[in-house]
Amino acid sequence: MLDEWLTLALVDDDDPGREREGRLPGGRYRVLGAGILELIPDTPAPGARSVVISAGIHGNETAPIELLGELLAALEAGRLHVKAPMLVILGNLPAIRAQTRFISTNLNRLFRRDLAQSGDEPERARELMRAVDGFFARHPERRLHLDMHTAIRDSRYPRFAVVPYTETQPASRWQDLAAAELQAVLLQHQHSWTFSHYSRHYHAAEAYTLELGKVRPFGANDLEALSGMRDWLAALAEGRERPAGATSELRFFAVAFELMRKSEAFRLGFAEDVANFTEFPVGTRLAEDGEAGEFVVDTAPLAVVFPNARVELNARAALLVRPCDPPASP
Ligand SMILES: [Zn+2]
Repeated sequence: MLDEWLTLALVDDDDPGREREGRLPGGRYRVLGAGILELIPDTPAPGARSVVISAGIHGNETAPIELLGELLAALEAGRLHVKAPMLVILGNLPAIRAQTRFISTNLNRLFRRDLAQSGDEPERARELMRAVDGFFARHPERRLHLDMHTAIRDSRYPRFAVVPYTETQPASRWQDLAAAELQAVLLQHQHSWTFSHYSRHYHAAEAYTLELGKVRPFGANDLEALSGMRDWLAALAEGRERPAGATSELRFFAVAFELMRKSEAFRLGFAEDVANFTEFPVGTRLAEDGEAGEFVVDTAPLAVVFPNARVELNARAALLVRPCDPPASP
């Protein structure tokens, strides 16, 4: 059963002997691979979305996995009825078992069809891309992908969505994000090969990377702070529309610059454990690099998101963002 699927995926490799499909109240499920589960309604609700929900793309980000566990338990017990096609994914299984962000490389930069790398994480990226391709081919209506994460550091907005960049932006339903009690939205300014970008770029799906609080071990998460998110997942599984949230409650930010590490002699001008969205005034020296020189805030304050001074050379050490107006919503 479903509970067992989650447990098995978390503790052990794919067990070929266990049940590959079965019934659920309102539909059925199929195990497509280790940590890859499809839910198929007998009768989809009118207007149901085709939903990919992924968690554990970074192995130590456990709150989203607990949310998924709750959702599957509710479906199995009949407290919820499957009324929408769903693809449920646990991303980096070895990293989840080891309670670490990744084993050899960051899985969330590998979701591109021309991926050349080999190794466990690149192979897993290929497997997940195939699963998403197959799912959206079988269920092309109203595509949505929520890739759930938690952040390494504190945040002025603990729950926020990252909107991947694509040339043609599929419509975003900001009212749904607001109803799920997300607090901020960060608009990317260039392609980055994340899982949510994959669904947006190659499948024109509405897709987000959701940062849902801070990294904690299993059992130490505050799921009550994620009750809006839990309700959203339940509504998606049942193909229900929820009352629109107040988009005026959402803060929107756009990436203005990326701080890149160009040399060994690189350092940030602020403590690395600063909260995401901390704002720095004009005149602040945000970084010093042996090759690129100093980066000083010039015309208007900048806020810092995802800072990390210890990235590889020529990788991103922080995003620098500014508030912006919300893009149009349908
Ligand atoms: Zn993550």
